[in-house]
Amino acid sequence: MTPHTAPKTAPESGTDEPVTWCPSGAADAPESVVLGVRSGDGGEVIYLADPVPAADVLGAIPEGIEPRRVLRFASHCVANCANRRGTQCSLVDRVVAADPGRDTAAAPRCHLRARCQWWTQAGLAACRRCPAVSSLHHTDEELATLVAEPTTTLDQLNEWIAERN
Ligand code: SF4
Repeated sequence: MTPHTAPKTAPESGTDEPVTWCPSGAADAPESVVLGVRSGDGGEVIYLADPVPAADVLGAIPEGIEPRRVLRFASHCVANCANRRGTQCSLVDRVVAADPGRDTAAAPRCHLRARCQWWTQAGLAACRRCPAVSSLHHTDEELATLVAEPTTTLDQLNEWIAERN
């Protein structure tokens, strides 16, 4: 599997405060950049060395293919996101809880880290799991669906995991 020394909060755009970025972001926000390419059998993300504006690549994706099926995008962490809880991101908490086995995985080199909301909030635990996170809702994968659902609590998630282990 879908968390950073930067601000401890996720301030709003349009203020003097630094903005944190979402590593599972929108493809079509004005500031969107490509974070990486989904690759290999498991669709894990290979990270770009430098950000590329999303607008520069979206036109090259064939019609009918959802851009987030093949690419991961980063955009501003926004206050109206269903995963926001105050200044925190509940999604990264679920991502970390859902995949305890990746605690020793290598953290990718990532151009977003210094401004990433997930890194700010959960540090290396987030980075180790980030490559396995899909920006798309996987209705065919029960655990991924549970993690992606903003109303899922950590207790519910832990209960689901405990029942299957
Ligand atoms: S709250 Fe989480 S999922 Fe939502 S925009 Fe911010 S970092 Fe992304």
